[in-house]
Amino acid sequence: MFRTTRVPRALCALLTLLAAACGKQGSPPGKGPAPEKLPHYQVARDFRLPGSRTWTRAEKRGYFVVGAKEDQPYLGEKDPATGTYSGFDIEIARMMSASLGLPPRTIRFRTIASANRETALQNGQIDYYVGTYTINANRKKLVGFAGPYYMAGQSLLVRKDENDIHGPQDLVGKRVCSAAGSTPYQRIRTDYPKAVLVAYDTYSVCVDNLLTYQVDAVTTDDAILIGYAAKAPGELKVVGKPFSEEPYGIGVPRGDNALRLALDDALQAREKNGDWKKAYDATLGLSGVPAPHPPAIDRYPAS
Ligand code: GLU
Repeated sequence: MFRTTRVPRALCALLTLLAAACGKQGSPPGKGPAPEKLPHYQVARDFRLPGSRTWTRAEKRGYFVVGAKEDQPYLGEKDPATGTYSGFDIEIARMMSASLGLPPRTIRFRTIASANRETALQNGQIDYYVGTYTINANRKKLVGFAGPYYMAGQSLLVRKDENDIHGPQDLVGKRVCSAAGSTPYQRIRTDYPKAVLVAYDTYSVCVDNLLTYQVDAVTTDDAILIGYAAKAPGELKVVGKPFSEEPYGIGVPRGDNALRLALDDALQAREKNGDWKKAYDATLGLSGVPAPHPPAIDRYPAS
Protein backbone atom coordinates (compact mmCIF):
# COMPACT_ATOMS: atom_id res chain seq x y z
CA MET A 1 0.00 0.00 0.00
CA PHE A 2 2.60 2.51 1.12
CA ARG A 3 5.09 1.62 -1.56
CA THR A 4 2.74 2.35 -4.45
CA THR A 5 2.24 5.91 -3.25
CA ARG A 6 5.79 6.38 -2.10
CA VAL A 7 7.77 5.23 -5.08
CA PRO A 8 6.38 7.72 -7.64
CA ARG A 9 6.91 10.52 -5.12
CA ALA A 10 10.46 9.39 -4.57
CA LEU A 11 11.09 9.20 -8.29
CA CYS A 12 9.77 12.74 -8.68
CA ALA A 13 12.13 13.83 -5.95
CA LEU A 14 15.01 12.19 -7.73
CA LEU A 15 14.07 13.88 -10.98
CA THR A 16 13.79 17.22 -9.19
CA LEU A 17 17.27 16.74 -7.82
CA LEU A 18 18.66 15.78 -11.20
CA ALA A 19 16.91 18.70 -12.88
CA ALA A 20 18.35 21.06 -10.27
CA ALA A 21 21.80 19.66 -10.92
CA CYS A 22 21.57 19.79 -14.70
CA GLY A 23 19.50 22.97 -15.16
CA LYS A 24 16.10 22.59 -16.81
CA GLN A 25 15.54 24.18 -20.17
CA GLY A 26 13.48 27.31 -19.99
CA SER A 27 13.81 27.65 -16.22
CA PRO A 28 16.14 30.03 -14.40
CA PRO A 29 19.61 28.60 -13.78
CA GLY A 30 20.11 26.69 -10.52
CA LYS A 31 21.72 28.42 -7.57
CA GLY A 32 25.23 27.30 -8.49
CA PRO A 33 28.24 29.59 -8.28
CA ALA A 34 27.99 32.36 -10.89
CA PRO A 35 31.35 32.48 -12.73
CA GLU A 36 31.38 36.30 -12.79
CA LYS A 37 31.06 36.39 -8.97
CA LEU A 38 34.14 34.23 -8.44
CA PRO A 39 37.26 36.04 -7.28
CA HIS A 40 40.24 36.51 -9.55
CA TYR A 41 43.40 35.27 -7.88
CA GLN A 42 46.63 37.12 -8.43
CA VAL A 43 49.32 34.67 -9.57
CA ALA A 44 52.56 34.98 -7.56
CA ARG A 45 55.43 36.13 -9.80
CA ASP A 46 58.83 34.45 -9.62
CA PHE A 47 57.62 32.04 -6.94
CA ARG A 48 59.99 29.13 -6.36
CA LEU A 49 59.85 26.16 -4.02
CA PRO A 50 62.85 23.97 -4.92
CA GLY A 51 62.60 22.16 -1.56
CA SER A 52 59.31 20.58 -2.68
CA ARG A 53 59.43 17.60 -5.02
CA THR A 54 55.75 17.98 -5.75
CA TRP A 55 56.05 21.65 -6.67
CA THR A 56 59.16 21.06 -8.80
CA ARG A 57 57.39 18.33 -10.78
CA ALA A 58 54.28 20.48 -11.27
CA GLU A 59 56.29 23.51 -12.33
CA LYS A 60 58.11 21.43 -14.91
CA ARG A 61 54.88 20.11 -16.39
CA GLY A 62 53.30 23.59 -16.17
CA TYR A 63 50.22 22.86 -14.06
CA PHE A 64 49.01 21.22 -10.88
CA VAL A 65 47.01 18.03 -10.83
CA VAL A 66 44.51 18.43 -8.01
CA GLY A 67 42.26 15.79 -6.45
CA ALA A 68 38.70 16.86 -5.69
CA LYS A 69 35.07 15.76 -5.38
CA GLU A 70 32.61 16.15 -8.24
CA ASP A 71 29.22 15.54 -6.66
CA GLN A 72 29.15 17.79 -3.59
CA PRO A 73 26.99 20.90 -4.21
CA TYR A 74 28.69 24.25 -3.44
CA LEU A 75 31.92 22.44 -2.46
CA GLY A 76 33.17 20.39 -5.39
CA GLU A 77 30.90 19.85 -8.38
CA LYS A 78 31.65 18.92 -11.96
CA ASP A 79 29.43 20.18 -14.74
CA PRO A 80 28.82 17.04 -16.81
CA ALA A 81 28.34 19.12 -19.99
CA THR A 82 31.54 21.17 -19.80
CA GLY A 83 33.68 19.14 -17.40
CA THR A 84 34.24 22.31 -15.35
CA TYR A 85 34.61 21.98 -11.58
CA SER A 86 33.14 24.55 -9.20
CA GLY A 87 32.60 25.09 -5.48
CA PHE A 88 34.38 26.28 -2.36
CA ASP A 89 37.00 23.50 -2.35
CA ILE A 90 37.68 24.17 -6.02
CA GLU A 91 38.23 27.86 -5.26
CA ILE A 92 40.64 26.92 -2.45
CA ALA A 93 42.53 24.73 -4.94
CA ARG A 94 42.64 27.61 -7.44
CA MET A 95 43.87 30.23 -4.99
CA MET A 96 46.58 27.83 -3.81
CA SER A 97 47.79 27.27 -7.37
CA ALA A 98 47.98 31.05 -7.87
CA SER A 99 49.95 31.48 -4.66
CA LEU A 100 52.36 28.78 -5.79
CA GLY A 101 53.00 30.57 -9.06
CA LEU A 102 50.89 28.56 -11.52
CA PRO A 103 47.75 30.08 -13.13
CA PRO A 104 44.59 28.55 -11.61
CA ARG A 105 43.00 27.99 -15.03
CA THR A 106 45.75 25.47 -15.83
CA ILE A 107 44.81 23.09 -12.99
CA ARG A 108 43.74 19.58 -14.04
CA PHE A 109 41.18 18.34 -11.56
CA ARG A 110 40.75 14.65 -10.89
CA THR A 111 37.81 13.21 -9.04
CA ILE A 112 39.00 11.03 -6.17
CA ALA A 113 36.55 9.35 -3.77
CA SER A 114 36.97 9.55 0.01
CA ALA A 115 38.42 6.04 0.30
CA ASN A 116 41.13 6.65 -2.33
CA ARG A 117 42.62 9.96 -1.22
CA GLU A 118 45.62 8.66 0.70
CA THR A 119 46.65 6.26 -2.09
CA ALA A 120 46.27 8.98 -4.73
CA LEU A 121 48.63 11.23 -2.77
CA GLN A 122 51.03 8.40 -1.96
CA ASN A 123 51.43 7.19 -5.53
CA GLY A 124 51.79 10.66 -7.06
CA GLN A 125 48.49 10.56 -8.98
CA ILE A 126 47.74 14.07 -7.68
CA ASP A 127 49.86 16.94 -6.32
CA TYR A 128 47.40 18.03 -3.66
CA TYR A 129 43.82 17.28 -2.67
CA VAL A 130 41.02 19.69 -1.78
CA GLY A 131 37.73 17.94 -1.06
CA THR A 132 36.08 18.04 2.40
CA TYR A 133 39.13 16.20 3.72
CA THR A 134 39.19 15.99 7.53
CA ILE A 135 42.58 16.33 9.19
CA ASN A 136 43.13 13.62 11.79
CA ALA A 137 45.96 11.71 13.46
CA ASN A 138 45.41 8.46 11.56
CA ARG A 139 45.49 10.12 8.17
CA LYS A 140 48.54 12.18 9.20
CA LYS A 141 50.47 8.91 9.34
CA LEU A 142 49.87 8.55 5.59
CA VAL A 143 49.64 12.09 4.18
CA GLY A 144 50.39 15.70 5.16
CA PHE A 145 47.78 18.41 5.72
CA ALA A 146 47.90 22.17 5.23
CA GLY A 147 45.20 24.14 6.99
CA PRO A 148 42.58 23.75 8.30
CA TYR A 149 40.73 26.18 6.04
CA TYR A 150 37.18 25.34 7.20
CA MET A 151 35.49 23.66 10.17
CA ALA A 152 32.58 21.31 9.45
CA GLY A 153 30.73 18.89 11.74
CA GLN A 154 29.03 15.53 11.20
CA SER A 155 25.27 15.75 10.78
CA LEU A 156 22.26 13.86 9.39
CA LEU A 157 20.17 14.26 6.26
CA VAL A 158 16.69 12.73 6.15
CA ARG A 159 13.57 12.98 4.01
CA LYS A 160 11.16 15.81 4.85
CA ASP A 161 8.53 13.25 5.92
CA GLU A 162 10.87 11.65 8.49
CA ASN A 163 9.85 12.47 12.07
CA ASP A 164 11.76 9.94 14.17
CA ILE A 165 15.38 10.90 13.53
CA HIS A 166 16.65 14.00 15.31
CA GLY A 167 20.21 12.97 16.11
CA PRO A 168 22.58 9.99 16.05
CA GLN A 169 20.93 8.53 19.17
CA ASP A 170 17.81 7.85 17.03
CA LEU A 171 19.64 5.65 14.52
CA VAL A 172 19.06 2.34 16.32
CA GLY A 173 17.86 -0.15 13.68
CA LYS A 174 17.79 2.56 10.99
CA ARG A 175 19.57 2.27 7.66
CA VAL A 176 22.23 4.97 7.52
CA CYS A 177 24.32 5.67 4.45
CA SER A 178 27.78 7.23 4.26
CA ALA A 179 30.87 7.13 2.07
CA ALA A 180 33.39 4.33 2.49
CA GLY A 181 36.65 5.53 4.00
CA SER A 182 35.11 8.64 5.55
CA THR A 183 35.30 9.80 9.16
CA PRO A 184 31.47 9.98 9.49
CA TYR A 185 31.20 6.33 8.41
CA GLN A 186 33.82 5.37 10.98
CA ARG A 187 32.15 7.35 13.76
CA ILE A 188 28.78 5.63 13.24
CA ARG A 189 30.52 2.27 13.22
CA THR A 190 32.31 2.82 16.51
CA ASP A 191 29.97 5.13 18.45
CA TYR A 192 26.53 4.04 17.17
CA PRO A 193 26.90 0.32 16.44
CA LYS A 194 23.14 -0.28 16.55
CA ALA A 195 22.66 1.69 13.33
CA VAL A 196 22.55 -0.37 10.11
CA LEU A 197 25.41 1.11 8.11
CA VAL A 198 25.38 1.19 4.33
CA ALA A 199 28.45 2.42 2.43
CA TYR A 200 28.89 3.70 -1.11
CA ASP A 201 31.78 5.47 -2.81
CA THR A 202 30.00 8.81 -2.88
CA TYR A 203 27.40 10.73 -0.92
CA SER A 204 25.30 11.45 -4.02
CA VAL A 205 24.58 7.72 -4.34
CA CYS A 206 23.55 7.76 -0.66
CA VAL A 207 21.21 10.68 -1.40
CA ASP A 208 19.64 8.78 -4.33
CA ASN A 209 19.08 5.88 -1.93
CA LEU A 210 17.49 8.21 0.60
CA LEU A 211 15.10 9.68 -1.96
CA THR A 212 14.02 6.22 -3.07
CA TYR A 213 13.46 4.93 0.49
CA GLN A 214 16.37 2.48 0.39
CA VAL A 215 17.94 4.13 3.44
CA ASP A 216 16.56 6.27 6.28
CA ALA A 217 19.37 8.79 6.64
CA VAL A 218 22.61 9.98 5.08
CA THR A 219 25.42 11.02 7.38
CA THR A 220 28.43 13.17 6.66
CA ASP A 221 29.58 16.75 7.24
CA ASP A 222 26.92 19.44 7.60
CA ALA A 223 28.56 21.49 4.82
CA ILE A 224 27.96 18.64 2.36
CA LEU A 225 24.45 17.78 3.56
CA ILE A 226 23.26 21.40 3.50
CA GLY A 227 24.16 21.46 -0.20
CA TYR A 228 22.04 18.40 -1.01
CA ALA A 229 19.14 19.76 1.07
CA ALA A 230 19.36 23.13 -0.70
CA LYS A 231 19.09 21.37 -4.08
CA ALA A 232 15.95 19.46 -3.08
CA PRO A 233 14.33 21.69 -0.43
CA GLY A 234 10.92 20.09 -0.81
CA GLU A 235 12.26 16.58 -0.16
CA LEU A 236 15.21 16.67 2.22
CA LYS A 237 16.19 18.28 5.52
CA VAL A 238 19.26 18.35 7.77
CA VAL A 239 18.34 17.48 11.35
CA GLY A 240 19.90 17.95 14.78
CA LYS A 241 23.18 19.55 15.79
CA PRO A 242 26.60 18.64 14.40
CA PHE A 243 28.12 15.86 16.53
CA SER A 244 31.80 16.05 15.60
CA GLU A 245 34.49 18.47 14.47
CA GLU A 246 35.75 18.01 10.94
CA PRO A 247 38.59 20.43 10.20
CA TYR A 248 39.16 20.52 6.43
CA GLY A 249 42.75 20.37 5.26
CA ILE A 250 44.59 20.34 1.95
CA GLY A 251 46.10 16.89 1.53
CA VAL A 252 49.72 16.73 0.34
CA PRO A 253 52.20 13.87 -0.04
CA ARG A 254 53.57 12.97 3.38
CA GLY A 255 57.07 14.31 3.93
CA ASP A 256 56.69 17.23 1.50
CA ASN A 257 56.89 19.71 4.34
CA ALA A 258 58.00 22.53 2.04
CA LEU A 259 54.75 22.25 0.07
CA ARG A 260 52.63 21.86 3.20
CA LEU A 261 54.09 24.96 4.86
CA ALA A 262 53.90 27.00 1.64
CA LEU A 263 50.18 26.11 1.44
CA ASP A 264 49.75 27.15 5.09
CA ASP A 265 51.33 30.51 4.24
CA ALA A 266 49.15 30.81 1.14
CA LEU A 267 45.95 30.06 3.08
CA GLN A 268 46.87 32.60 5.72
CA ALA A 269 47.54 35.26 3.07
CA ARG A 270 44.27 34.51 1.21
CA GLU A 271 42.30 34.70 4.45
CA LYS A 272 43.93 38.04 5.24
CA ASN A 273 43.45 39.65 1.82
CA GLY A 274 39.75 38.74 1.64
CA ASP A 275 39.96 36.10 -1.11
CA TRP A 276 38.88 33.30 1.25
CA LYS A 277 35.69 35.16 2.20
CA LYS A 278 34.96 36.19 -1.40
CA ALA A 279 35.33 32.57 -2.48
CA TYR A 280 33.09 31.36 0.34
CA ASP A 281 30.39 33.92 -0.43
CA ALA A 282 30.37 32.97 -4.11
CA THR A 283 30.10 29.22 -3.43
CA LEU A 284 29.25 27.59 -0.08
CA GLY A 285 27.61 30.83 1.06
CA LEU A 286 24.89 30.19 -1.56
CA SER A 287 23.58 27.35 0.61
CA GLY A 288 22.43 30.04 3.05
CA VAL A 289 25.08 29.83 5.80
CA PRO A 290 26.97 33.13 6.26
CA ALA A 291 30.78 33.03 6.15
CA PRO A 292 32.26 31.86 9.46
CA HIS A 293 35.72 32.85 10.69
CA PRO A 294 38.20 30.38 9.25
CA PRO A 295 39.82 28.17 11.90
CA ALA A 296 43.40 28.81 13.02
CA ILE A 297 46.00 27.21 10.77
CA ASP A 298 47.98 24.39 12.38
CA ARG A 299 51.58 24.61 11.18
CA TYR A 300 52.73 21.39 12.73
CA PRO A 301 56.45 20.51 12.73
CA ALA A 302 58.05 18.34 10.05
CA SER A 303 57.42 14.64 10.55
N1 GLU B 1 35.20 15.18 6.12
C1 GLU B 1 34.92 13.79 6.17
C2 GLU B 1 36.11 12.95 5.73
O1 GLU B 1 37.11 13.51 5.37
C3 GLU B 1 33.70 13.44 5.36
C4 GLU B 1 33.64 14.02 3.98
C5 GLU B 1 34.33 13.20 2.94
O2 GLU B 1 34.19 11.96 2.91
O3 GLU B 1 35.00 13.82 2.10
O4 GLU B 1 36.08 11.75 5.77
